[in-house]
Amino acid sequence: MKIAFIGLGNMGGPMAANLSTAGHEVLGFDLNQEIAQKAAAKGVQLAHSAEGAVEGADVVISMLPNGNIVLSVYKQLLGLANKGTVFLDCSTIDVKSAEEAHAMAKEAGMLSLDAPVSGGVGGAEAGTLTFMVGGSDDAYGKAKPLFDIMGQKAVHCGAGGAGQAAKICNNMLLAISMIGTAEAFNLADKLNLDKSALFDVISTSSGSCWSVNTYCPVPGVGPESPADRDYKPGFDASLMLKDLKLSQDAASQTDSATPLGAHATSLYEKYVEKHGVGHDFSGIINDLDALNKA
Ligand code: NAD
Repeated sequence: MKIAFIGLGNMGGPMAANLSTAGHEVLGFDLNQEIAQKAAAKGVQLAHSAEGAVEGADVVISMLPNGNIVLSVYKQLLGLANKGTVFLDCSTIDVKSAEEAHAMAKEAGMLSLDAPVSGGVGGAEAGTLTFMVGGSDDAYGKAKPLFDIMGQKAVHCGAGGAGQAAKICNNMLLAISMIGTAEAFNLADKLNLDKSALFDVISTSSGSCWSVNTYCPVPGVGPESPADRDYKPGFDASLMLKDLKLSQDAASQTDSATPLGAHATSLYEKYVEKHGVGHDFSGIINDLDALNKA
């Protein structure tokens, strides 16, 4: 396929490189020249402009920072593509903007999908991302072979916006379960309970969850995780905060009660304020006492 790839950053660069390695004709574009050159070094052919990349493309993939940027790129490009081109946005953005992007694409005679990912930069490089996808069956069918290259799993969650909805619900739950895990292990410590013993119990009991079993925030306990690498990400706490804020926007727009999601957002806000970027979200275990008092 002829693929335009807009946004070649930490995630987009390796995703575009994997498509190109698999034999697709990929033309990439990023506003930042230095970042574009990094993708070129991994084999991605560069276009001189976003418009140039889109000309004659079968699929236009975007991997951009936020909803406003995605909408402005759609405004810029939708009129230039051939009718029926698939616009596939893999960015994590708010549900409302995703729905607006779908409406704009439909109006312009294009097919469209929202398909945010989980799996991080490691997953983008290894081609093992999970895609959560919203949009029509027709668009999904056309993009499926590309999901199979860039990822190991794609779930068609429903109509336009459903992918973004799935992503923020999952990540809100992940934040809550990570904080719950941190609370349990900190309490165990104060009760003089051995942390490995607690891991052995929880990981095979009703408290079992991904935050304990796979990504335990305690060094030396459970399978290797960022805790064993001084909390180097992994999944950066600032990205978790971005997703939590999107979940809280969606909750207020739909009048949904998310008291634990709101509290998790406030704790991660304080955590990111204190540490900035470059810290895994599981590191919150070390600051819970202080953050709770702040
Ligand atoms: P990034 O900042 O590294 O990449 C975004 C790129 O978009 C930048 O290189 C920027 O120059 C480019 N860009 C911005 N506006 C543009 C425009 N108008 N035209 C062309 N290029 C433009 O971010 P990232 O880490 O690659 O994340 C991309 C998206 O994926 C975000 O929505 C993020 O929330 C999501 N995400 C990231 C991760 C992760 O671990 N990094 C994991 C899951 C999802």
